[in-house]
Amino acid sequence: MLHFEDTDFVAPSGSTAFVPPNNIDGADSLVGTGASFRRVRIEDKRVINGKADVNQLVPFKYKWAWEKYLAGCANHWMPQEINMSRDITTWKDPAGLTEDERLIVKRNLGFFVTADSLAANNIVLGTYRHITAPECRQYLLRQAFEEAIHTHAYQYIVESLALDEGEIFNAYHEIESIRGKDEFLIPFIETLTDPSFKTGTPEADQKLLKSLIVFACIMEGLFFYVGFAQILALGRQNKMTGAAEQYQYILRDESMHCNFGIDLINQIKLENPHLWTPEFREEIRGLMQRGVELEYRYAEDTMPRGVLGLNAPMFKEYLRFVANRRCQQIGLDTLFPGVSNPFPWMSEMIDLKKEKNFFETRVTEYQTGGALSWE
Ligand code: FE
Repeated sequence: MLHFEDTDFVAPSGSTAFVPPNNIDGADSLVGTGASFRRVRIEDKRVINGKADVNQLVPFKYKWAWEKYLAGCANHWMPQEINMSRDITTWKDPAGLTEDERLIVKRNLGFFVTADSLAANNIVLGTYRHITAPECRQYLLRQAFEEAIHTHAYQYIVESLALDEGEIFNAYHEIESIRGKDEFLIPFIETLTDPSFKTGTPEADQKLLKSLIVFACIMEGLFFYVGFAQILALGRQNKMTGAAEQYQYILRDESMHCNFGIDLINQIKLENPHLWTPEFREEIRGLMQRGVELEYRYAEDTMPRGVLGLNAPMFKEYLRFVANRRCQQIGLDTLFPGVSNPFPWMSEMIDLKKEKNFFETRVTEYQTGGALSWE
């Protein structure tokens, strides 16, 4: 039986101990060779700049990451399991939806069809390389697949409704409020995907941390929320219930992505407190403020008039509420004192509760392949 807490393991004399490759950035040799070879110990593991063998999942140090991986797998779903026939009928019926409701659906898909590809590329080509905790990498692998499922889901809705693919998939170039959000994100993604970028200095580690915060707290934690609220509002009015069901599954996944990202950020802060300077914190608050402005522009663009009992000014309050929550979750002072949640029904469905409660109260009955029920 293996005991991973065993003290140093010395390779038998005359043999050549197999030394697995370290992370592909070529960080220092993780376990040494020959007589210096040592089994992985918990105390050697670090979320960034770790030297322990990234190929060995155990011994577990970051159990929160492993638990999120297990929860993600338990919630596996596929877009084609959801019946879209009622949505197709509604969409084809000239009286099925108002023009404003149709605009919401098209703008929504215009943002999301490329957003999850950006997210997947950011993980696979960027974040993954720089994270040296195998439990966290295991979650990132699951997350990357979920991003692919989400892109599949949006494509499936576009195909089901026979929308103009060129119009929807190019919206991130052609619609100013969508392009604004993506142009804000792309430099942070490019930081991590740049092949020459390496962690290991305070400046580089702050860049990584900043990109992780932008990705988890602003992209997945803020930029998705106008769109989610709009489609879930349609579903609550018994319109486009297939699309709304797809979005509810996606929201459940994204809620976990956001919470994993926040746990990752807080663990990096814990292990590297020197990165969390007052100047850095202010920079992050500024980015959060900018994120709220960009998402509000998107709300105005997608809702030129009130629709579904929603209007853009309500989203100003909502986005401020969500941004405050993100700030609190990573230990920043909130940006907007005195705001409250204008959409309490959203908080039943999203990440404002810990996912444990979320699952206990709402999702248990549809773990892996079950049906969502609308209330
Ligand atoms: Fe995500």
